[in-house]
Amino acid sequence: MFATCAKTLRNHSKLSSLCRYESTLVIAEHNNESLAAITQATLTAAKKIGGDITVLVAGTKCGPAASALSKANGINRVLVAESDAFKGFTPESLTPLILQTQKQFNFSHILAGASAFGKALLPRVAAKLDVSPVSDIINIKSPDTFVRTIYAGNAVQTIKVKDNIKVLTVRGTSFEPMALESGGNAAIEQAPAGDYKSDLIEFVKQELSKSDRPELTSAKAVVSGGRGLKSGENFKLLYALADKLNAAVGASRAAVDAGYVPNDLQVGQTGKIVAPELYIAVGISGAIQHLAGMKDSKTIVAINKDPEAPIFQVADHGLVADLFKAVPELTEKL
Ligand SMILES: Cc1cc2nc3c(=O)[nH]c(=O)nc-3n(C[C@H](O)[C@H](O)[C@H](O)COP(=O)(O)OP(=O)(O)OC[C@H]3O[C@@H](n4cnc5c(N)ncnc54)[C@H](O)[C@@H]3O)c2cc1C
Repeated sequence: MFATCAKTLRNHSKLSSLCRYESTLVIAEHNNESLAAITQATLTAAKKIGGDITVLVAGTKCGPAASALSKANGINRVLVAESDAFKGFTPESLTPLILQTQKQFNFSHILAGASAFGKALLPRVAAKLDVSPVSDIINIKSPDTFVRTIYAGNAVQTIKVKDNIKVLTVRGTSFEPMALESGGNAAIEQAPAGDYKSDLIEFVKQELSKSDRPELTSAKAVVSGGRGLKSGENFKLLYALADKLNAAVGASRAAVDAGYVPNDLQVGQTGKIVAPELYIAVGISGAIQHLAGMKDSKTIVAINKDPEAPIFQVADHGLVADLFKAVPELTEKL
């Protein structure tokens, strides 16, 4: 009933300009038990678009994730799809589910976080719907006008999307996370049934890196190291500092490429995008591709022995010093 109404309104431009009725589908990213923080940020973006919000939770035993979402204030409906087909959350199996859900409900917007999960999934969905996906939005001006960065974050572009269905990935650091357990009482319903097992791929296994440290993209403080560290062994200086600050550890691509640290620590255009309260860049020059991943941090501290290093142009506090002397001193004093 609601879907028909929304469709009718969208088909009548005069009417829809008087009475805009949006309905958004958010694809939840989760591990069956709990939600990824980027999904909470995506929900805030959905709220900003306006209208009804439906969340799709697909997994194997994803009841806990669905139940957490149903208690978030502002969500109207949680659709759950449980099947072995969704092991590994592969885009090949999730895409037909999303298309089937879209067919049934006719959403005006389909959103996911701009994480590896959302980036693999939504372009596929958009292609199947024959619409243009809009990646990594950082703001919403109106239900059809969105802001995103281009040229590695060097320019900001505002675009109006003319497609009937807007398919968007959302930058997690640009929207506050929607609170769960905030007095909501959304209905939990079954997503459209179907055989979603993919003929294209079969999930075999995944190995997730385990760490007691805060997760890089959601940590309140991040200490990152660059080529200036000179070896993986020397990163222990940063781990000691991070321990004092309860911080996550990140790295530049040069440090990752040199094998000092694993690539899931990379911050930047081709790594993770972070915006913590405090970002400490140690032995990092500040190339634009690195800045693209961290320049929205609230307070940036840079330690570099070269006073001309570009990182000092974005730093709130800069220390021109040899990191091998400055970092242990700083750790000692904390
Ligand atoms: C398409 C593309 C995508 C990219 N994506 C990314 C990305 O996602 N993330 C990223 O980081 N880079 C990315 N890069 C690479 C980027 O251009 C830079 O090469 C990289 O960020 C440099 O890393 P760095 O600052 O650690 O190394 P360098 O530029 O070599 O800087 C090392 C710094 O350490 C300082 N230093 C050295 N010794 C000391 C010391 N003892 N004490 C204090 N300071 C010291 C030096 O003064 C220097 O400023 C990308 C590049 C391309 C082309």
